[in-house]
Amino acid sequence: MTSLIVTRFAPSPTGALHLGNARTALFNWFYARKLGGRFLLRIEDTDRARSDESQVGALMAELRWLGLDWDAGPDLEDAKGPYRQSAREERYREATTRLMSAQRAYHCFCTPLELELARKAALSRGLPPRYPGTCSHLNDAAQEARRREGRESTVRFRVPLGEAVVYEDLVRGPQRFMSDELGDFVIQRADGTASFLFCNALDDAAMGVTHVLRGEDHVANTPRQHLILQALGAQIPAYGHLPLLVGSDGAPLSKRHGSASVADIRDAGYLPNAVLNLLARLGHSGALDGWADTRALIAHFELEALGRAPAHFDLTQLTHWQKEEVHRAPLETLLSWAKGKVPAGQEGAFIAAVRQNLVLPADAAVWAPIVYGELPCAEGAIEALLRAAGSAFFEVAATAVSEGADYAALLARLKSRTGLVGKALFHPLRAALTQRLDGPELAQLLLIIPRAQLIARFQVAAAVAVKGTDASS
Ligand code: GLU
Repeated sequence: MTSLIVTRFAPSPTGALHLGNARTALFNWFYARKLGGRFLLRIEDTDRARSDESQVGALMAELRWLGLDWDAGPDLEDAKGPYRQSAREERYREATTRLMSAQRAYHCFCTPLELELARKAALSRGLPPRYPGTCSHLNDAAQEARRREGRESTVRFRVPLGEAVVYEDLVRGPQRFMSDELGDFVIQRADGTASFLFCNALDDAAMGVTHVLRGEDHVANTPRQHLILQALGAQIPAYGHLPLLVGSDGAPLSKRHGSASVADIRDAGYLPNAVLNLLARLGHSGALDGWADTRALIAHFELEALGRAPAHFDLTQLTHWQKEEVHRAPLETLLSWAKGKVPAGQEGAFIAAVRQNLVLPADAAVWAPIVYGELPCAEGAIEALLRAAGSAFFEVAATAVSEGADYAALLARLKSRTGLVGKALFHPLRAALTQRLDGPELAQLLLIIPRAQLIARFQVAAAVAVKGTDASS
């Protein structure tokens, strides 16, 4: 029997959900969903100064928008909760007390200044800047004396000496650290709150997390977290560290590279599945060709396919997946793109006709006036095209549509009356109707441009062509 896979996403609500974190969430979710496991959402809000409650709701909304769901979380509590670290402080204190009574942790009275001096002294001697163990063996009287001096204390974990911490990173492979390199580290801050790496490790164990995929910035925490969990006799999850997301220039992803937050991307009108198709491939190799739905993305996910090289985010790739998604999205999804931009009731017909030319909602604002508005005077290449076709061409077209001809009938009439075929036929038609050389299929445009407009545009084109003939004669 294989045991239940439990993964989690553990964001700190200190800012908007960035693409890098969204990818971390996604990979954990893929893994749990693929193997029928559980996916948890835990809010890491012990850093009260930096945590922002409004970010919690936003974060959940953004995960849901991406299509991620969780089996337990701050809004879906179960026996392993609460799923918010600010509500688990008692548990961290209990664990600290246990470690203290087992002599695996001790009070440290060093001031920040003393620590800084010790750090500098070590560095100047070419040694790693570890805690020198100043307070590691203070007896009760010595501790009391320091308290009387008014010194505050943190609690440090006593790292065992001469031990190798060995484990397999799910992405980076075998890891080996000598405990002596780590130095005793803080598990409880002077204000009594637990340190990040302490709560993070305790919660994973308490919540039965089996696999942790997280950012590479946590690599250095992992051997310490191993030691904490070992000392408490708790279950240690398998950790895997994902390389950073970088922009196409190789620098860590930021606003400079365009929208780096999920909210910005959503608000610009990208569709969730376009974002999923992009993120699922960043740092995950494999033979997944072309667009995939969520089910296929889940099925395709493999821990073995996670790479160590930094993953490059490129806006043109997002645009590519967005086009694929717009192409496939149900009409209802795109209706809001046309709302307020086209005459009421025309939204569906408009989207159906111009969908191939839309990438973002803003593109609807480009095509709406071309379909429903007044076109400006023809100039340049467009004017030349109209002139070359000649006024008779457009007079025939105007008459045909005024008599109710559909696209096929219009083409047939033009062919028989002008003898033109192919580009010579289509280009002037497109130019007269849109004043552009590219765009949605003409047959589609003919369905949505109001008939009066069709006639008017052909008449204007005829006039331009006549004028052209006059001018050149
Ligand atoms: N709260 C941490 C972060 O946002 C979570 C680290 C982890 O996944 O273990 O970076």
